[in-house]
Amino acid sequence: MSFGMAREAENAAAGYGAAVTAVVDRHPPGVSAGPVPAAGPAPSAGPAPTAGSVAGPAAGPHSQDGQYGQDGQDGQQAGTPHAQARIDLAAIRANVSRLCDTAGSAEVMAVVKADAYGHGAVPVARAALAGGATWLGVAGMREALALRAAGVPGRLLAWLLTPGDDWTAAVAAGVELSAGAPWAVRAAVRAARAVDRPALLHLEAETGLGRGGAAAGDWQTLVDGAAAAEAAGYLRVVGVWSHLARADEPGHPSCARQLANFRDAAGIARRAGLAPDVLHLSNSAATLTLPEAHFDLVRPGLAVYGLSPVPDLAGPAELGLRPAMTLTARLASVKRVPAGQGVSYGHRYRTARATTLGLVPLGYADGVPRHASQAGPVLVAGRQHTVAGTVCMDQFVVDLGDAPAAPGDEVVLFGPGDRGEPGAADWARAAHTISHEIVTRIGARIPRAYTGGSAPGDH
Ligand SMILES: *Cc1c(COP(=O)(O)O)cnc(C)c1O
Repeated sequence: MSFGMAREAENAAAGYGAAVTAVVDRHPPGVSAGPVPAAGPAPSAGPAPTAGSVAGPAAGPHSQDGQYGQDGQDGQQAGTPHAQARIDLAAIRANVSRLCDTAGSAEVMAVVKADAYGHGAVPVARAALAGGATWLGVAGMREALALRAAGVPGRLLAWLLTPGDDWTAAVAAGVELSAGAPWAVRAAVRAARAVDRPALLHLEAETGLGRGGAAAGDWQTLVDGAAAAEAAGYLRVVGVWSHLARADEPGHPSCARQLANFRDAAGIARRAGLAPDVLHLSNSAATLTLPEAHFDLVRPGLAVYGLSPVPDLAGPAELGLRPAMTLTARLASVKRVPAGQGVSYGHRYRTARATTLGLVPLGYADGVPRHASQAGPVLVAGRQHTVAGTVCMDQFVVDLGDAPAAPGDEVVLFGPGDRGEPGAADWARAAHTISHEIVTRIGARIPRAYTGGSAPGDH
């Protein structure tokens, strides 16, 4: 059994898809070709124990021609996953640290909902706290309870709740909860009585997004009910918050209107005798582009992962961010075909000349958008290619032209760009969506391997 396989088994046993490794990111920026750095001397932390062959032996038959992690086709790397999402926890820490600088006197809540946008909630939460975040934010209560069960510290808010959720468990675990309607205040009071501990509530004002929260006409009632329950000792209103509709369009007049509405809502809460610790309104886009919306706490999600919330205005590097996820796969098949060959379901692609087709073992079940058929970019051997034909459930095809290629060659779908690979934003563009969706939908079938973190058991 190779080291990689042992790590895989360990990852599976860790229960959340992967364990944190002691590896630092060993790929220096700008190194776009050449053999894998694992062939060099080991760093002080020891040989790179990532799950993937990215850190494995590099002496493949093609490693001289600019391919990365090349291991040839003869099975010398049994145990190499056929696809992998590598998560750079050092990038997460650095991104959060950068967001803390930007936030100034405001605290930072790292949003780790949806398994940290596909990056792995527990390791990312720990890295975000190490980077300077003092809060964690999730949507659902189950997400919050899972973080608490894993022993993750820090103030923790869950904001998308329903009457059937386990309010008692959340209050018992010290999870802070959003309330945007009187029923939620009542649920919090019942839970507080059950566990004899006050609930910590963040009242949500609807200021213009048209989503959750109490509308202006219902705000006073919500505030008065919460103030009464606070006076009775059942809860403490620790926050007032809202969410912006168009923060990713800096300067849009709706942002100013929402800011004004938010200030009004906070004023009403104060006049009712509430004294929240924190007012909070900003997602990543507002954190980076709208300082007047910072208040006491900002709630960046996407930027924690190193992706730009305003991709048409600035890329990650211009914002001081580094994308944390690199998605790679290994070619499962390579073959020559003649001109005129129809490719994949519906034959939406047809080869213009004799060419080499490579089969990539990732599909829409893994989160590769079917909408990126004929459009998604990949890097193979240092050169970008485009998805040829329809993305299938488990696989898609790329037309490699006359480039030499072999089964097992690495394909990079997206990453930080050090090797000239596309970014998640390029896939978002190809699929007519946003980067949030690209990384978040990378499926459970893809093993995560962590670099730049501390070893399991270190925390
Ligand atoms: C998801 C979410 C965020 C983070 O948004 P990003 O655009 O990823 O920064 C912040 N606040 C709330 C309420 C959210 O639902």
